[in-house]
Amino acid sequence: MDCLREIQGKQAHDPIFIEKMNTSASWRCICVPGPLIVGAGPSGLATAACLKEKGVPSVVLERSNCIASLWQLKTYDRLRLHLPKQFCELPLMGFPTDFPTYPIKQQFVDYLEAYAREFDIKPRFNETVSQAEYDATLGFWRVKSVGVNGKGTEYVCRWLVVATGENAEAVMPEMEGMGEFGGDIRHTSLYKSGEEFRGKRVLVVGCGNSGMEVCLDLCNHNARPSLVVRDTVHVLPREMLGRSTFGLSMWLLKWLPIRFVDRLLLIVSWLMLGDTARIGLDRPRLGPLELKNLSGKTPVLDVGTLANIKSGDIKVCPSIKRLKRHAVEFVNGKTENFDAIILATGYKSNVPSWLKEREMFSEKDGYPRRPFPNGWKGESGLYAVGFTKRGLLGTSMDARRIAEDIERCWKHEAKHRMAFTRSLLQQPSSDSSS
Ligand SMILES: Cc1cc2nc3c(=O)[nH]c(=O)nc-3n(C[C@H](O)[C@H](O)[C@H](O)COP(=O)(O)OP(=O)(O)OC[C@H]3O[C@@H](n4cnc5c(N)ncnc54)[C@H](O)[C@@H]3O)c2cc1C
Repeated sequence: MDCLREIQGKQAHDPIFIEKMNTSASWRCICVPGPLIVGAGPSGLATAACLKEKGVPSVVLERSNCIASLWQLKTYDRLRLHLPKQFCELPLMGFPTDFPTYPIKQQFVDYLEAYAREFDIKPRFNETVSQAEYDATLGFWRVKSVGVNGKGTEYVCRWLVVATGENAEAVMPEMEGMGEFGGDIRHTSLYKSGEEFRGKRVLVVGCGNSGMEVCLDLCNHNARPSLVVRDTVHVLPREMLGRSTFGLSMWLLKWLPIRFVDRLLLIVSWLMLGDTARIGLDRPRLGPLELKNLSGKTPVLDVGTLANIKSGDIKVCPSIKRLKRHAVEFVNGKTENFDAIILATGYKSNVPSWLKEREMFSEKDGYPRRPFPNGWKGESGLYAVGFTKRGLLGTSMDARRIAEDIERCWKHEAKHRMAFTRSLLQQPSSDSSS
């Protein structure tokens, strides 16, 4: 078996074999000498850069027509990084020093474009991976992609890096009467600015960072937002004691137990924001950091929404019972009229829809089964980057580890490649023998 794999490993780098594969199949077939990365978001780019630095070439496939499509195509105009820039840098290249602490969306995209240029990463755009399966006989991954023209390509590779993200597909909840509602219903991935909702009554469903910020944006554009709060939520000030709340938490965690840090964060939040339960935002039983660790649920970092809730400019509502033609009925029996509904109901992974593998990734949620920090590596050359629920910090950690791991294999196999090439060069040609 090892011998077979070795021969096939050599074949994957043999230009004659590659050409044969390319022309013989009914669809286009491409043998990738190095790893194949699916997704050209920050995670895919970080992995390609780390590999490049180690001398390992990779191919990146992206379903959109640009890098970082989530940031470029699916986010609202006023978005800034939620965390200070030093916690959002990708490996090997920092943010420009003149960027503010919380770069705006366009600055982050500019940074990613510069990053791709620096490491000469040229993704193959408009290629949606529809299926990926490990061929145990061949010892390679077979990855099928579909282009915009419907043309299929099969990539054959030794290593497959899943970088399709935690936010690949919008989560659209089912609500009774959804088809009946006469106004606009859209997910935050399609919300750009409050400008088009000026003067309108808008119901925002979901009170995570996006829902809270969309409400603030609607207020700033003189719309009349209400916020559906179905669950408990931790809201913390974005900054406390002269530092970013995130940075301070990371620093405190170096010295103190998590529960102690949580208590401290909650006391300071109470002093700065008051009792959030009084404005309809009950806190979970577990502290913000412990909850994040156990469930991945991110605390909301307040950028001004709370003040608008306190002033009554944003109304807090309970869960929705059903939608009507121009109104929404809530579980408390009240009914209110609305012109539009914005679903800040989050995103999900799309891995189970295309990766035919059940060991590493859970079919249920499309995340690696093994918990952080061990979810980055599977069997047979399969890797995951950016599924740690730890934002871009998690991405950087994964990307570095994956590149180091693949480099070891790559160097080992390079010896065989050299030997194979040498043996080819030493073979007498058919011309000289006649
Ligand atoms: C609004 C918002 C703000 C955030 N702010 C921060 C922050 O301040 N700091 C922080 O650390 N984190 C933040 N995050 C979390 C996270 O860091 C980002 O979501 C980041 O973009 C994740 O990068 P990624 O490459 O893993 O995923 P993505 O950016 O989602 O990139 C995945 C790419 O894969 C492509 N893809 C998906 N499926 C396929 C397929 N089948 N075939 C081919 N391509 C495919 C997608 O088109 C996409 O381009 C934020 C998230 C959101 C939604």
